[in-house]
Formats: sequence, C-alpha cells, structure tokens
Amino acid sequence: MAFRCTKAPKDPVATLAYHPWDMAIDAFQVSPRTWYVSGQTWVGAYLIETSEGCILIDTAIPESAYMLVNGIYQSGHKPSDIKKILLSHAHFDHCGAAALMQHLTGAELWMSKEDWEFYQKVPEETLVLDKDSHPQDFKVDHFYSDDTPVTLGDISIRTMLTPGHTIGCTSFFWEEVNPADGKTYTVAMHGGVGANTMNDQYYSTSKMLTPALRDRFFADEAKLEAMHVDIALPSHPNQIEIVDRAGQYTNENNIYYDETVWADFIRERVRQVKALM
Ligand SMILES: [Zn+2]
Repeated sequence: MAFRCTKAPKDPVATLAYHPWDMAIDAFQVSPRTWYVSGQTWVGAYLIETSEGCILIDTAIPESAYMLVNGIYQSGHKPSDIKKILLSHAHFDHCGAAALMQHLTGAELWMSKEDWEFYQKVPEETLVLDKDSHPQDFKVDHFYSDDTPVTLGDISIRTMLTPGHTIGCTSFFWEEVNPADGKTYTVAMHGGVGANTMNDQYYSTSKMLTPALRDRFFADEAKLEAMHVDIALPSHPNQIEIVDRAGQYTNENNIYYDETVWADFIRERVRQVKALM
C-alpha cells in the first residue's frame, strides 16, 4: 500500500497518563524480524529479533512502559531477551522510559553523542517537556558511529546521523531475510521528522537548536530519498500509516513491503517543514 500519513493525535501524553485504553494496541509484526511493541498508537517502539537476543528501538514514555512490556511479551519475547536499546533522539516521548527499560532488561543503552549532549545541557528541551510525563534520568553506554553498525547476532543496524528535528537525531537501516520467499529486505526508521522543532518560533526560544539544523534537514533530503528501503517504519505511527493493518502481517503476506513509501515519506516531511517557513 502506498505512503499515507494521518493527523497526529490530540493530547497524547494526557491520554496515556489518564485514559490509556483510548490509545492501547496489541503488538503487531511489521517485517520478518520486527514487531511494533510500544502498546500504544502515539509513539512507536520496535523489537527486532536476532540470533542472539533482541534489539529495542525507542522506549516511549514511563506512563506507557507497562504497555511496552506487555507488547514485548505479546511478540513472544521477554524483557531480559533485550540486549541493546537504541534511542532515535533525546525527546521524552522516545527516551522517557529509557532508564526504566535499561534497568528492567539489563541492556546496553545507545544514543548519538550529539543528542546526549543536547539532553545534558538542556533537559527542559528534551527529556522534561510535558507536565503529565515523568521521565527518569538515564545514562548512555555507547554512542553511535555511522561507520560502524550496531550488531547483535545476525542483525546489523546501520545508523545515520540525520539532524534537524534534534541535533543528534539518528536514523536506522537494517536487512532481514524473509524465510517465506528467501529475499532480503531493507527495513528503516527515520529518527525524527517533526516540524515542531524546525520553525522560527521554536528557534527563537531554543537554547541549542538553530536554523542551520533545518538547512541540514533539507540538505539530506536527496541523499535519504535515494536510499533503497523496502519496509519504511515510522517513529510515530501517524507519520507513515501502519496501524491500519495491525495484525495482518505474515511472512507470506508481507503487507508493509513497498519500495516507494520511504522516498514519498521523506518528501512529505520536507514539504511540511517548508510550509512553516
Ligand atoms: Zn522528537
């Protein structure tokens, strides 16, 4: 199915804090090795199965951590299977539950050096952003290097620094073999594309973000668009609609496979940022 995005939900933090059932969703598979496990429809978290345990991308907020843990079990795994946690960027909605998940799993925690510094210097622009969410301070074990993939067992995740939404926003690319057809698929998740931090009003109050980051976001468009991605995953599921087919994926029915979605998604996000200028 071609690329489609939908509207961002209204008041998602308060919803998850006070009436989470409005946003609850069971874990669902999106590719041969990857499951959507956040348990809620606002922020994505992905569990990738490898031959030596699991990788978790993003953790969402502490208020929905029990939904994430439930999603991990629904995917057929348990928290202690997770060996590496990869964070896309330093905003609370992606790393708010990082400390909790790190303690629960014993996994290594990874982030970009750039966003670690952003968080250290201005937590009020990263981790502590919403009165209804209560993130815990966390410690990063490893920084990404775009030259060295993050490997666990038979899965290697290539990282790419894609600044714009934050200073150290990081995108992920990896390969999975589908046992049903024997083909290798490239799966990707862009680290963050929200225009909320790429506009002049935001820059006028931010302590660290500047219009140069927006320029970099535009400069990366051609490079990102040209990358071959078979299965494009959203960091927020409204940005690339996937929830509409939750529970329908099987290896024989590879419904999220569409080589056109990634480039269309990148173009649409650049268009949205330009529309605010
Ligand atoms: Zn963000």
